[in-house]
Amino acid sequence: MTMALLDALRSALGSAHVLHDGDLSAWELDWRKRWRGKALAVVRPGSTAEVAKVLRLCAEHGACIVPQGGNTGLVGGGVPDASGEQVLLSLGRLNRVRTLDAANLTITVEAGMVLQALQQTAADAGLLFPLSLAAEGSCTIGGNLATNAGGTQVLRYGNARELCLGLEVVNAAGEVWDGLTGLRKDNTGYDLRDLFIGSEGTLGVITAATLKLFPQPAASLTALASCDSLANCVALLGRAQARLGAGLTGFEVMGQFALDLVRQHFPQLPQPLPPSPWTVLLEYADTEGESQARQRFEALLESALEDELISDAAVAESLAQSAALWHLRESIPLAQSEEGLNVKHDIALPVSAIPEFCDSTDAALRATFPGVRLVNFGHLGDGNLHYNVQGPAGSTANEFLAQHEHDINQLVFDAVQACGGSFSAEHGIGALKRDELAQRKSGVALGMMRAIKQALDPHNRLNPGRVL
Ligand code: FAD
Repeated sequence: MTMALLDALRSALGSAHVLHDGDLSAWELDWRKRWRGKALAVVRPGSTAEVAKVLRLCAEHGACIVPQGGNTGLVGGGVPDASGEQVLLSLGRLNRVRTLDAANLTITVEAGMVLQALQQTAADAGLLFPLSLAAEGSCTIGGNLATNAGGTQVLRYGNARELCLGLEVVNAAGEVWDGLTGLRKDNTGYDLRDLFIGSEGTLGVITAATLKLFPQPAASLTALASCDSLANCVALLGRAQARLGAGLTGFEVMGQFALDLVRQHFPQLPQPLPPSPWTVLLEYADTEGESQARQRFEALLESALEDELISDAAVAESLAQSAALWHLRESIPLAQSEEGLNVKHDIALPVSAIPEFCDSTDAALRATFPGVRLVNFGHLGDGNLHYNVQGPAGSTANEFLAQHEHDINQLVFDAVQACGGSFSAEHGIGALKRDELAQRKSGVALGMMRAIKQALDPHNRLNPGRVL
């Protein structure tokens, strides 16, 4: 059976695009190096028709499929299990732009296009595709949609779901659903598009998408500000929203230990402000000219200094300086992985609840697990924190995780639930949070999710064991 499927895949795609032997760790090992699987084969179709062929062949031979884009996901959803029986479907060769309609402000691209290439294509046409995250040089738009990725501009433009108008999907039976549309209004029955967005490869394979574009802002300004407390960060957010309106495109927060890790592991990166309990990164983009925008932005920061919401601030003077400030923020995930695995939490809370949540949960963690170090940073403007727990200095990361991960998760997620929050804001469920989903979603919600999975993938061939 296995050899027969491999032969059929080779004759469908050509041997060069069916990898079976050799080092396949680029596809079998996840970004965090936490999950290593073994694929029956890595297949690399070059068109939607070839994806459909692969799915039909897998259905005929009873094989399961794991779709993969850039393999930057953080919840173990895009790598095969250890059975050596799953087919890893890499979308990387589906990377073409199909159409760009400047008047309609839409672009249709294939799923394997790298996010940064998509941003660049839009910029070359004088337009903006605003989805932006630290993995943008490797992650793909298909993976972004499959995980409903958020990133740094959700405050103004929404997450991947809000940026998508239409999809092309291959279902478990190998049929192609052409739902590519640039319409902003289309109430013709159930919204299939929204079903596939965020489904993490468990309901169908996304092969192309029609996405929203936006006018490029005339001016874009970035600043760092030091805050003594999270309550002051939240007050600054409120003031920035009131004064800058929709022009406030990013509001990121970085705890002191998160930036200390960047200082330690990437000492070459300049940090314009001295260490402080919290550092906020603000971005303001507007259609008005640079000098007016700068005046308004600086006036906001001056008023915050006067009222002691912040103790210091630095505004980037050039695009290069602005990129350097973002680079600091985006280096936190890398600095963390240099430090070793930690217990990751990608949580969402009402913004108003965040200061009290952190005060009480920090204290409970420190009391229960003495010496833990909290790597707390994230998209405060969206109420989304990456609230990660690193073992005590000098401890072995793997041992710390094996001993305490379960209890730490329980403590943090109970606190999140008590505040009406979510245990997965933007990274998804994958393999990592499957048990959490089963424990914390209502029976009614789980029942409806299982009914949808059963209807679209009755033989459980698409990314089995992920999400549900
Ligand atoms: P993969 O990792 O390849 O796959 C992710 C999931 O999607 C898997 O379940 C896979 O099966 C499925 N999938 C992939 N492609 C398809 C497809 N075409 N059809 C169906 N299913 C598919 N996320 C955020 O939301 N915000 C952030 O700010 C953020 N920052 C990050 C920073 C770093 C340094 C890293 C490493 C990751 C970050 N992420 C962030 C995680 C984020 O989820 C991924 O980077 C990205 O969205 C996944 O894209 P990918 O192409 O790498 O998908």
